Amino acid sequence: QAKVAGKNCYRFYSRAMDQAVERRVRMEQELRGAWERGELSVAYQPVYRLRDNRLVGAEALLRWHHPEQGMVSPAVFIDVAEQSGLIETIGPQVLRVACRDAMRWQNEFPTVEPLFVSVNVSPRQLRSGELPGLVEACLRETGLPASQLHVELTETAVIGDELHASTLLSRLRSIGVKVWLDDFGTGFSGLSHLRRVPVDGVKIDRSFIADVLRDPDDLALTTAIIAMAHSLGITVVAEGVEKEGQYAILRERGCDLAQGYWLGHPSSAQDFARLLI
Ligand code: C2E
Ligand code: MG
Ligand code: MG
Ligand code: MG
Repeated sequence: QAKVAGKNCYRFYSRAMDQAVERRVRMEQELRGAWERGELSVAYQPVYRLRDNRLVGAEALLRWHHPEQGMVSPAVFIDVAEQSGLIETIGPQVLRVACRDAMRWQNEFPTVEPLFVSVNVSPRQLRSGELPGLVEACLRETGLPASQLHVELTETAVIGDELHASTLLSRLRSIGVKVWLDDFGTGFSGLSHLRRVPVDGVKIDRSFIADVLRDPDDLALTTAIIAMAHSLGITVVAEGVEKEGQYAILRERGCDLAQGYWLGHPSSAQDFARLLI
């Protein structure tokens, strides 16, 4: 009896797995050519400086408007793009569009301090070794000053081959592009990476910020990350600020920059530009 159940169970499980694989394969096929069909776009989320509450930049976030399913979460499709290698064609497009939009804002709405645009770069894009050349080409093509471009990498991008990663990142930094470590605090070895990989800033993962008002441990960790980063001379960005109280406490603790729904949701380039008027 148990054996039969086990067998059925196995069969059910295997079918569920087949379906998951099938879904991924279908998504990969649909993602191929999505850019050309105009289904992909870049949204921008404002980043504020806590010291003077000023808008200082934007994070570029890829959006996929699927013709039947509507908006697909980047958490799902970026992974498919990464696994399939499609990110190597999509990633450069995002970088190009982001540099172009940032240059456009500056031309149309000159601000005292020019805004930066921050672009997410996947592990595969870093590993390919083409990033510095690509960044240089995008800056040249669009005219955006290097100091106004930031790249965001997660720990997984630098894990394994720290030497290769730090060589590439040093090259980016030598031309003036800033490098930020994204989702900081979620990995086990964040601290040790800071010793070997040169970065200009860390973005505290939003899971720490979520409970910063209620959980003393999260507040202690956040405060410690800020102190540690500052002692290394690097900038701290808080992600996922959804409440005024979170903003206030981060400001009090000396955090440099923040983004989150309370400050502004990701929006189209045109909508973002309204913040500059
Ligand atoms: P991320 O780089 O950590 O981006 C921050 C994510 O948090 C974004 O999700 C943003 O919409 C969301 N977020 C911002 N403020 C809040 C808030 O107050 N509360 C909550 N709950 N969420 C907030 P999104 O756009 O869904 O992107 C998810 C992830 O997908 C990104 O995480 C990034 O790792 C990846 N991603 C997005 N665009 C790109 C891209 O162009 N290239 C690469 N390689 N990855 C990308
Ligand atoms: Mg990011
Ligand atoms: Mg993040
Ligand atoms: Mg994330």
